[in-house]
Amino acid sequence: MSHNLKDISLLKDWGLRNERPILIAGPCSVETPEQVMETAMGLKGTNIDVLRGGIWKPRTRPNSFEGVGREGLPWLKDAGRTLGVPVTTEVANAIHVYEALRAGIDILWIGARTSVNPFAVQEIADALRGVDIPVLVKNPINPDLKLWIGALERINAAGINKVGAIHRGFSTYGHSKYRNKPHWEIPIELKRQIPNLPIIIDPSHITGRRDLIEPVSQKSLDLDFNGLMIESHCNPDKALSDAKQQITPAVLQEIKERLVLRDNQTDNKVFLDKLDELRDNIDGIDKELLAVLAKRMKVCEEIGVCKKENNITILQKDRWDRVVNNRMEAGAESGLTEEFLKDLFASIHKESIRRQTSVMN
Ligand code: PEP
Ligand code: MN
Repeated sequence: MSHNLKDISLLKDWGLRNERPILIAGPCSVETPEQVMETAMGLKGTNIDVLRGGIWKPRTRPNSFEGVGREGLPWLKDAGRTLGVPVTTEVANAIHVYEALRAGIDILWIGARTSVNPFAVQEIADALRGVDIPVLVKNPINPDLKLWIGALERINAAGINKVGAIHRGFSTYGHSKYRNKPHWEIPIELKRQIPNLPIIIDPSHITGRRDLIEPVSQKSLDLDFNGLMIESHCNPDKALSDAKQQITPAVLQEIKERLVLRDNQTDNKVFLDKLDELRDNIDGIDKELLAVLAKRMKVCEEIGVCKKENNITILQKDRWDRVVNNRMEAGAESGLTEEFLKDLFASIHKESIRRQTSVMN
């Protein structure tokens, strides 16, 4: 078994308003009683399931706003009560857990900078022993699925059955379209390994910018994840943290109205027959693909034999450069993207080198 999570409670048993997809919204940080209340009231028509707000903020550098601290817990709770929804905040150590529980916070989440650290996660798990509260675990900042599952296991082993994951993207060095790269294959693999684990997507921290919240939200729904966590602030430009990615409640409402929720199953016979036919088609093509790849690898091994006989290095940089360029051009003519071809040929090349290495040594 790839994980040790036991008796995970289904999201529909968490007592939230909606079953699928759920919407968690609210400010990055709780700043003042007025700001969190005004934001909550702005979200009134949006039918959100949970109001979020950060109380203790893990900031990259010191001397920026690090949250209002426990003083803000009742502000968040009051706003949630007025809106009629449960509230959630981030906890990063045992003291945060005790303070949040004492203030009646309904759902806890563990942030990305905490899930990387097994000591911190274990401390939180120990503080939660004997408490029945839902806990959402954000992915660690580095793309490490095992570490993410490990954090979920620690919380679950403390007796928490209402456990879920939040995908907020992964940190990278340098420029990217996203603040945190989504690497969708990782949450998809998490879903495959733990099918009944609720997974919520956080487009705000993935994108870091307002204009990409909607497409990433739509993609999350199309990938059949269980919900969204979106940062919303009554005055985003004046927000004390994550100003660039926060949207007003009105904008969130517009986005929500445009999002298309597709069924994840159907009994439409015509559609299912057509799908079966196309899937048979794919199965056949994949068989051919495997045969072609096997054939290519055989040739790589023959090349390995030739290189060994002539004492030539495996890697010939110029040749590889020409192959990559040529395949990119040829692939572009067939409508295949450069991004896909780069990954595909990098993977083929890796296997080719591995085969030649084993032939030569
Ligand atoms: C947040 O949700 O405001 C937050 C700090 O998130 P993350 O842990 O994903 O950076
Ligand atoms: Mn934030």
